[in-house]
Amino acid sequence: MRIFCVANQKGGVGKTTTTVNLAAGLSLVGQRVLVVDLDPQGNATMGSGIDKRQLDLSVYDVLLESASIAEARQASPKGGYDVLGANRELAGAEVELVPLDHREKRLRLALQAVQSDYDFALIDCPPSLSLLTLNGLCAAHGVVVPMQCEYFALEGLSDLVNTIKQVHANLNPDLQIIGLLRVMFDPRITLQQQVSEQLKAHFGDKVFNTVIPRNVRLAEAPSYGQPGVTFDPASKGAQAFVEFAREMVQRLGA
Ligand code: ADP
Ligand code: MG
Repeated sequence: MRIFCVANQKGGVGKTTTTVNLAAGLSLVGQRVLVVDLDPQGNATMGSGIDKRQLDLSVYDVLLESASIAEARQASPKGGYDVLGANRELAGAEVELVPLDHREKRLRLALQAVQSDYDFALIDCPPSLSLLTLNGLCAAHGVVVPMQCEYFALEGLSDLVNTIKQVHANLNPDLQIIGLLRVMFDPRITLQQQVSEQLKAHFGDKVFNTVIPRNVRLAEAPSYGQPGVTFDPASKGAQAFVEFAREMVQRLGA
């Protein structure tokens, strides 16, 4: 099982959309996938068709070691993958974990028990560099960073890159940036093209070839409890995410 965080400390940049659609895309190309919702907002849970208010067990119970992932996971009804869900309760874990042993390694340990059940685990991180995100980064082999090609995009990236370097040096030597994913891209906007070129100049082949366009079907899908990839497979956004799933599998030789 390969474990990836979808992370960017900014909110609203497309982390959750990337997580659920990459999961659905990977499932379409035959991969077994677990989505871990590590954001108390529970958007990946809801967007996978699972009601966050009705969770018996969630990632919160797993982090506090009162449940295993095998007990707490559920199948996404339409997505083709499993989900370890989250809701507001998870915000409490941030505080409750602080005095506990191996507090940043809880998710890593829990995932080991389901290692042979999946080809991929995708962790949807909250918009912060908190103890929750740290649990994600300690568990992961790599980080996928969705970003919009806007003026301050590169600036915001340096905090994340520094955090990843620190986790790599101190807690998880496996961790690396797998790639930067350009999302909500509008080729008609000159600035976006320019920032996209800067990204490529700066990060080279760490920038994924696939570009996710701005596409309203991707934004509509969560209210139908499914990823855009299954909600409207013919849409440009869905097709881009399936392409992205193929690129990931190719890159990893999976
Ligand atoms: P994050 O998880 O980083 O906060 P989201 O994935 O929730 O970001 O995306 C923020 C908003 O942008 C959501 O309303 C989502 O539906 C919308 N969105 C994300 N990606 C796209 C896209 N490619 N095209 C159109 N809307 C998008
Ligand atoms: Mg989100």
